[in-house]
Amino acid sequence: MSYFRRVIDAMTGYVPGEQPPPGTPIIKLNTNENPYPPSPKALEVLRNLESEWLRRYPDPFARRFCEAVSQALGVPADGVIVGNGSDELLNVLIRSCAGGQDRPVVYPIPTYVLYRTLAALQPATVVEIPYSPDFRLPLASLIAAQGAVTLIASPNSPSGHGVSQADLRQLAQNLSGVLVIDEAYVDFAETSALDLVEEFENVIVLRTLSKGYSLAGLRMGFGIAHPALLSGLFKVKDSYNIDAIATAVGTAAIQDQAYKNACAEQIKQDREILTVNLRGSGFKVFDSQANFVLVTPPQGNAEFLHQALKHQGILVRYFKQPGLEDKLRITIGTAAQNQLLLEKLTLLPGQNP
Ligand SMILES: *Cc1c(COP(=O)(O)O)cnc(C)c1O
Repeated sequence: MSYFRRVIDAMTGYVPGEQPPPGTPIIKLNTNENPYPPSPKALEVLRNLESEWLRRYPDPFARRFCEAVSQALGVPADGVIVGNGSDELLNVLIRSCAGGQDRPVVYPIPTYVLYRTLAALQPATVVEIPYSPDFRLPLASLIAAQGAVTLIASPNSPSGHGVSQADLRQLAQNLSGVLVIDEAYVDFAETSALDLVEEFENVIVLRTLSKGYSLAGLRMGFGIAHPALLSGLFKVKDSYNIDAIATAVGTAAIQDQAYKNACAEQIKQDREILTVNLRGSGFKVFDSQANFVLVTPPQGNAEFLHQALKHQGILVRYFKQPGLEDKLRITIGTAAQNQLLLEKLTLLPGQNP
């Protein structure tokens, strides 16, 4: 007999990107962290934390944070749910809404691999529908699958493409289940689907402080949806899922939109420069709305380059998955980091045509 349920024995756990200990002399372009520090105002709050906040249990709904989100994004404060990273909210959504064959989890692939892990844990039947090679959304098949939960990352990872608002509206209209629009990378994109929340009760838009706000270590994400949809999720989440430190620091970070926007602007500019330079060196680079680019090296030797770069002190992401074997996902770093990456990449053996 196993200690575990059959589905746990059968599944493979989620494998996060490599996280070397802080201080390791390495350029980390593998997990889409922001290369810039968090807002100075957020750090100021962190330095001045009162011990009383730690002695007491935190606010289970992080209402101060919800108010700040309401101010910053112009959404009602009672339409916000806060999570221990948006990963927790994805977990809560699937636990709340999906399960078995009758309540499947549906998403286009390739996308965020955690979706598959969370469905396997539930367990819920998974329907994975491939994107076209140029990443057009398989709209008709997604609608036909009628997921209890349909997940669309936009901008998507690892491709970086944004899904059009028109396609998302079609989905929202034609699904009887929940449509999750995972906007982890929206801070680097030109558009958002946030407006759909007002229009459709079955839509939840997920955001995170991990990417745009440089706070991946804080673990804070949030969802915006109709209170009717949130009411079920509140039953399922841990009561004290967001700690007092995260609530205080995250609130200051959300309030400092100007700082976040300035960092994102810089990253978007550097993304364009890296894209042009890589294309000039023969790489295929997919157009990206995120803080990373998906690239195909001229020789297709992505796995080799991943290893070779690692030996030279640069981490990028390689996915050994169908359709991605010949590609690398590279997080946009500082201008200097991107330049160094480019130099190493073009000097490695087998790169010059
Ligand atoms: C990074 C990421 C998240 C979540 O991150 P958290 O750190 O848990 O907030 C969610 N979805 C996608 C597609 C991501 O890339």
